[in-house]
Amino acid sequence: MTKDYYSTLGVGRTATQDEIKKAYRKLAVKYHPDKNPGDKQAEEKFKEISAAYDMLKDDQKRAAYDRYGSEGFQGGHSGGSGFEGGFDFSSQFTGFSDIFEEMFGSTFTTGGQRAAQHQPGSDMRYDIKITLEDAYRGKKTKLKYTTLVKCDACAGTGSEGSKRPSPCPTCGGRGSVRQNHGFITLERTCQTCGGAGSILSDPCKRCSGSGRVKGEKNLEVDIPAGVSSGSKIRIVGEGEAGFKGAPPGNLYIFVSVLPHKIFTRHDSDLRCSVPISMVSAALSTRIEVPDLDGTQCSIDIPPGTQSGAHFKVRGKGMPIVNSSRRGDLIVEIIAETPVALSKQQREILEQFASERDDKTNSPNSFEFFKKLKDLFS
Ligand SMILES: [Zn+2]
Ligand SMILES: [Zn+2]
Repeated sequence: MTKDYYSTLGVGRTATQDEIKKAYRKLAVKYHPDKNPGDKQAEEKFKEISAAYDMLKDDQKRAAYDRYGSEGFQGGHSGGSGFEGGFDFSSQFTGFSDIFEEMFGSTFTTGGQRAAQHQPGSDMRYDIKITLEDAYRGKKTKLKYTTLVKCDACAGTGSEGSKRPSPCPTCGGRGSVRQNHGFITLERTCQTCGGAGSILSDPCKRCSGSGRVKGEKNLEVDIPAGVSSGSKIRIVGEGEAGFKGAPPGNLYIFVSVLPHKIFTRHDSDLRCSVPISMVSAALSTRIEVPDLDGTQCSIDIPPGTQSGAHFKVRGKGMPIVNSSRRGDLIVEIIAETPVALSKQQREILEQFASERDDKTNSPNSFEFFKKLKDLFS
């Protein structure tokens, strides 16, 4: 659905930047969470007007919005049926700290946002490509990546030697200070400690007091059987190390499964097309089809099998993650018309043609041409 950012802010489509800013300030002050504690509706409204302002304050974004509507900005969600619940990189809060900064010369924290010393490390993304066989069996895989890791020298505290950091005298360890501006209270980052909440009398020389350094991680992870392209696997705590000993972020492994020479995957089913000779399709045959395990499945093809007929081998498809069930293997038969006939083969087929009766031997073809005839006569 298209959001009308102009009506959200209560301005016309030709409003100037000044008018937009004024309208936003008025509404932001009215619906600010600090002024409406616990009021979900006000919070929603605040997010809406902030999103609208974020779009309209930027001339380029505004021009694109005028042309394409809000949908033009919805993109970027990766599809796929990740069994790890998707996660959301989008931030609703982009763009409204800056106007407050402008108004009051400080950033402010929204309700629930914690001071810097408790801020965990960032999440990380690691892309891997695996074969369909790997996805079928599951796989142990080694990952190697560079990230911020806990500083060994100070055990992540950021403090040199055994000296513990002391609480910041200005903010009492909170990392932020509250200031009243008329009827709204702003929480601003403490200038003394820079938001850390503590003062290092002797910062660690190796990490300059941040408690983390650039380093390499080597990890062995289990890719579970049944993963598909678009699956995300979360490895808790293996993202970036947190600031000054705060918890680390998570690592997200994005899986893509390479195409296979024979099998294609449809959810948990595997499919393959098997060409057999026209004669076998007419007379019956037995075919052996391997599954991804390498074991053979026998399939009896009855006489008179048509091209495109499907045969299902139950339970020979892909495993389903977190389940003991499996999909099916679906074999599609393609009846191959013979080519490069010898003289004798040609004669045999000609003899067959002279003896055939379309109504009995080729009922589909017979019906089709009958319909065609009815249509044009
Ligand atoms: Zn250190
Ligand atoms: Zn402080």
